[in-house]
Amino acid sequence: MAPQTDTQTRPLLEETRLSPDRLETLSRRIEGDSTATITVRAPATDTAIGSIPTCTDADVERAVSHARDAQLSWAETPVEERSDVLERFGDLVLEHRGELLDLLQLETGKSRQDAVEEVLDIPLTCSYYANTGPSVLAAERRRGALAPATTARVTREPVGVVGVISPWNYPLTLSLTDAVPALIAGNTVVLKPDEKTPFTALALAELLERAGLPEGVFEIVTGQGPVVGPALIDRVDYVAFTGSTETGRAVAEQAGRNLIDCSLELGGKNPLVVLDDADVEQAARGAVQACFTNAGQLCLAAERLYVDESVYDAFLDAFVGETRRLTLGTGFDFDADVGSLIGGDQLERVEAHVDDALESGASVLTGGRRRPDVGPFCYEPTILTDVDPDAAVACEETFGPVVSVEPVSDTEAAIAAANDSDYGLNASVWTGDRDRGVAVARRIDCGTVCVNDGYISGWAAVDAPMGGIGDSGLGRRHGRAGIERYLEAKTIATSRIGPLDAPPGVPASWYARGMVGLTRLQRRLPSVSSLVGRLR
Ligand code: NAD
Repeated sequence: MAPQTDTQTRPLLEETRLSPDRLETLSRRIEGDSTATITVRAPATDTAIGSIPTCTDADVERAVSHARDAQLSWAETPVEERSDVLERFGDLVLEHRGELLDLLQLETGKSRQDAVEEVLDIPLTCSYYANTGPSVLAAERRRGALAPATTARVTREPVGVVGVISPWNYPLTLSLTDAVPALIAGNTVVLKPDEKTPFTALALAELLERAGLPEGVFEIVTGQGPVVGPALIDRVDYVAFTGSTETGRAVAEQAGRNLIDCSLELGGKNPLVVLDDADVEQAARGAVQACFTNAGQLCLAAERLYVDESVYDAFLDAFVGETRRLTLGTGFDFDADVGSLIGGDQLERVEAHVDDALESGASVLTGGRRRPDVGPFCYEPTILTDVDPDAAVACEETFGPVVSVEPVSDTEAAIAAANDSDYGLNASVWTGDRDRGVAVARRIDCGTVCVNDGYISGWAAVDAPMGGIGDSGLGRRHGRAGIERYLEAKTIATSRIGPLDAPPGVPASWYARGMVGLTRLQRRLPSVSSLVGRLR
């Protein structure tokens, strides 16, 4: 493992395009009553880089009421104009990628290679929803109760104000990927970014404004999650939450009490399966990406590897070799493969999982150490074998650069092991036969399964829904489902003949006989939606 030479005293901001004044300007975007602030620290050196206001209940109330005031006129703006604003925003994100990459690295400690993934994601999401939004929002004709005497039409109305609560691991992508479809659907958004990574979100709000988003349409509130989060959920019409399973349960309970809908994108303990016919070199390269991208702090990252015993030794040799070649570092260039963890809590969790595994008999094939010479929260990419199935690292989400590898006797055993989890977010299957991979994928209980890829082909297929089952969450982002969740379907039915009742003077028994005949006929008529389905 080749470390870069970093010291905790290096003047980090000077290595970036940023300055204390610039961060202060971003922080001033938040209107807060309280003088209390939260200090934001750079994980690369564990030093303070700036501070943000701790919003109070009254601040959240004000932000949501701005968003509510702006919502009607935004919803009345033609969807094509809303889409244009979001497309311009996508262009601006690409144009200002230098500063955004610096901000992302500064706040999260991630490597620049990992930061780039985030910056590319948003313009793609904007264009996808700009193109798809109008067709999802279009009104549809449906078969009336007594066609052609009555008609039915479905319109899709925005739910109103959407609260987005995002985590620190992908602060750019995960602050916007759920906000963009909400905005295109005609909702306004109040975002609560994680308190560790607020500046990226504030820079995005600035770019949205420059793209032409009217005032109040995208508001941000900052502060402690357990205070600002519930205050937000109590005031919005929908909550899109991304974060831990534990917090997700609290969010769902509160949303349930308030009778608002929510989507929950939560944790995972994602399996990666290598079948007996896999190209082991390719699988090893893919596994390194699946396991150690963003130092493993990725909800879709693989943490449990099951390898057919016939290719186990060859795969392990290649996987360990590739992992040892990864470089650790926190520079603002493309030299390092793996950056820092977010902070001390995360480092402690990673170490606790490794220690617990070792105490119960596991072996470390590579890694297994913190690296203070690189950064205060850096940890080596770590591969464990012989892990006790009850060890924390085998069943709980580590959310760090630590994975376990286990041989399995055959494909059935691999599928059973992959499904032995309360989570169901993402899985990866490696095989020389893609059809076989798809057949195995269909039997793995996860919202997304990538064949011969770790996670990118699933995530970047923006046209396809993405989300988890079990403890990994509720609902789907991406695809049509990603925008439909923010819409209320409204049925408008009309009658050409007045009330659907017996006409004056017609005996009830005659009317009933007539209705039986009509019902028989109607049962044989296809619905408009099934006709459309057959034509597709
Ligand atoms: P977290 O649940 O602690 O925090 C997430 C967000 O919720 C933060 O903005 C936080 O301030 C806020 N929050 C905290 N308490 C709250 C409360 N009581 N009510 C409302 N909001 C509250 O999660 P984390 O540890 O910061 O993030 C890592 C977790 O997120 C991991 O489990 C990871 O797997 C998961 N994650 C999931 C996805 C996905 O798409 N499925 C993506 C990224 C991360």
